[in-house]
Amino acid sequence: MSRTRVAILGLGLIGGSLGLALRQVGSEQVDVTGFARRAITGELALQMGAVDKLSDTPQAAVQDADFVFLCTPVLQMLPMAETVLPAMKPGAVLTDVGSTKGWFVKKIRNLLPQHIHYIGGHPMAGRERSGMEAAQADLFRDKWFIFTPLPDTPPDLMQRLRQLIQLTGAKTAELDERTHDQVTAVISHVPHVVAAGLVQLLRKQSDPALTARFIGGGFRDTTRIASSDADMWADICMTNSENIAAELDATVNLLGNVAAMIRAGDRQGVHDYFTQAKQLRDALLTTEKELK
Ligand code: NAP
Repeated sequence: MSRTRVAILGLGLIGGSLGLALRQVGSEQVDVTGFARRAITGELALQMGAVDKLSDTPQAAVQDADFVFLCTPVLQMLPMAETVLPAMKPGAVLTDVGSTKGWFVKKIRNLLPQHIHYIGGHPMAGRERSGMEAAQADLFRDKWFIFTPLPDTPPDLMQRLRQLIQLTGAKTAELDERTHDQVTAVISHVPHVVAAGLVQLLRKQSDPALTARFIGGGFRDTTRIASSDADMWADICMTNSENIAAELDATVNLLGNVAAMIRAGDRQGVHDYFTQAKQLRDALLTTEKELK
């Protein structure tokens, strides 16, 4: 692979981790230019080694780039794309790391000039902490990185982007944006809403402090992701709203059935509920281990 020039716009947890991972490969292979909204973020990115250099404006960051990564919260990606598209060189690829894909694809399709291609991306990796200070070079290692190419994406560009991301240690896969949004609603978006709901439940108790005093591993484990960034999750809910709302309705319905079984003293029904969940989860974790 010849030297690839990458621009990363937004140096938070994901943008910063991408920079750290790509820079570990060596600057003879990959050159990373970053743009940070706040000076303090940019300084930290330089200090931690997530970028080779910083640009003062997003337009300057992208002008020589082969691949431009939008790494802001999802709703901020559109104004950022509008700002940088006119400054990108012909043949360059606009990509991103956003957690939802359909909303952005719909918007960007009408904005793309002929000489720029867009390929969506989503690393299935993250942490409940955010910002450059939480970035890690090995965040993507052995994790899925899903691409959502468009029907007219040239295969050679898809292949180059795949190879670039594989340098981070990620496993790559391709889905259309609709399937991506359905799948991630179930395995990522709804679990985040539900984890936050469990914390809200505690808040609504008559004496939340007393209840919280006795928190153990169960509450801690199931609510870990409720510590994630509210800005990011509000954007995700606004840009995959139909899938998330439908799966939340299904969750409420499912829990309603469990509540009814508990009220009715249907021990066998409740037992089956836990047994089926345990069997499926244990099987999923075993398959995951075998795939590694
Ligand atoms: P983050 O740590 O909060 O970082 C977001 C970065 O975007 C910050 O560095 C912030 O800059 C910058 N930013 C925000 N608004 C901006 C704007 N208007 N113009 C320029 N820069 C702006 O968030 P993250 O976790 O890296 O998430 C970034 C993207 O990755 C999101 O789209 C999210 O959906 C996706 N994603 C996140 C995870 C996860 O678990 N966190 C996983 C997969 C995908 P400053 O620091 O300078 O303020």
